[in-house]
Amino acid sequence: MLVTNHVLSGAVIGAATRRPVSAFALGVVSHFVLDAVPHWGKWRAHDQFMRVAVVDGLTGLAVMGAMAAIAPGDTRVAVLAGMAGAALPDIGKPSVEFFGRSPFPRRVDEFHRRIQQEAPHRFPQEAATGVVLLAATITLLRARVRRR
Ligand SMILES: [Zn+2]
Repeated sequence: MLVTNHVLSGAVIGAATRRPVSAFALGVVSHFVLDAVPHWGKWRAHDQFMRVAVVDGLTGLAVMGAMAAIAPGDTRVAVLAGMAGAALPDIGKPSVEFFGRSPFPRRVDEFHRRIQQEAPHRFPQEAATGVVLLAATITLLRARVRRR
């Protein structure tokens, strides 16, 4: 799954729990759950993977910045922790690109690779997942602002 969608799911978790440690741990778990759901992927070539990965990585960072900016003060750390936990398992991909190795034990990488349910025709599902997660994040954060 795109890291942008993982970041958004982490923001939802952080906004819902408002507890940084729980948000981080649940964010990591959510990463593997979402990767096991059928999603867009299975690239034809490394160039195609890199084009998607660069745009996705930059979009994910922008989403992290935006969510940190709009989260109310009492929720911000949990939202950041949720997003960090949800994105963490994918740090292995840029690590392999730039440093030639993953920071995770081989068993973790094998598990991560084995659970993927990727297909190249699933961009609509991937985009719809992002829209739903963005709407959920904004709804939860607006509710937090109204309760203050
Ligand atoms: Zn992943």
